[in-house]
Amino acid sequence: MTFRQDRRAGAGRLAPSPTGGLHVGHARTFLLAWVAARRAGGPVVLRVEDLDASRARPEAAAAALVDLRWLGLDWDEGPDLGGPRGPYVQSQRRAVYEEALERLKAAERVYPCTCTRADVERAAAAPHAEDEGPTYPGLCSGRGAADAAELGDRPFAWRFRTPAGTIAWDDLLLGRREVDPARLGGDFLVGRNGLGPSYQLAVVVDDALMGVDQVIRGDDLVPSTPRQILLYHALDWTLPQFGHVPLVLGPDGRRLAKRDGSIKLATLREQGVDPRRLIGELAHSFGWTDSPVPSHPRDWVDRFDLAAIPRSPWLASPDVWSHRPES
Ligand code: GLU
Repeated sequence: MTFRQDRRAGAGRLAPSPTGGLHVGHARTFLLAWVAARRAGGPVVLRVEDLDASRARPEAAAAALVDLRWLGLDWDEGPDLGGPRGPYVQSQRRAVYEEALERLKAAERVYPCTCTRADVERAAAAPHAEDEGPTYPGLCSGRGAADAAELGDRPFAWRFRTPAGTIAWDDLLLGRREVDPARLGGDFLVGRNGLGPSYQLAVVVDDALMGVDQVIRGDDLVPSTPRQILLYHALDWTLPQFGHVPLVLGPDGRRLAKRDGSIKLATLREQGVDPRRLIGELAHSFGWTDSPVPSHPRDWVDRFDLAAIPRSPWLASPDVWSHRPES
């Protein structure tokens, strides 16, 4: 593994977290990421994001691969196939995260922070919109990286020194976005001493080293994007394009969650639902067809159109794709 940004070929990625079964909202995001990557002609990389030790389960990683294959998605590199950019499981990539952290320390972009245990515990997971905490008040920001040596046995985390100013990007789906990271949480965690990197650092290191130039994911991660852009700048890497898919609401009008068993892909599979019906519904939700037609993901590569995708949430109605003809 070399610690350099991979610029060989723009790759797309599917990056499931193995913390529970994938549901229809994940299927929608992964379908879009896959079709966009196939359209761009680059390889699709599957990466398992299992750094959140309190929630990641090995059997869920295997189940996510089964769910994705059931949908008709495939990949060119991943934990099951291997490939030149591996390993493809984050818990096996700790050395590259450590190297990135060392660079950030050497450049005084991070400082050791002894505050807020709860923040530190949460840092390995990708934060969803409701997980965003209050702005960090900067209590430890007077420390330099070398002050870590004086902390002895005290547990601490590494916090990124967020510069003042707005971060802007042209989102593939949401258009121009401008966020002031200093107001959005302020200095953020990049690593927990002895426990490994935060989601923010790991995802940037992985996407850069794996040559991912197109990051398509759910819009609950929009608040993470300015932080990740700051890390790209600090590590002197070229930014990928970001696209955030508007969220999916369940029949009750609430955001889909893993607790909703009815829309879990494993449940649909066990019920004998035809994945082609679901793909047809999802393609319809993207505005690529006037009416849903049972289809395979590859049927949409030529009809991929980002501009057609509604910016508003999509209301999922499981009865539509679950319907089976009377036997
Ligand atoms: N693994 C993260 C999740 O499932 C996605 C991270 C990303 O796409 O940046 O929430």
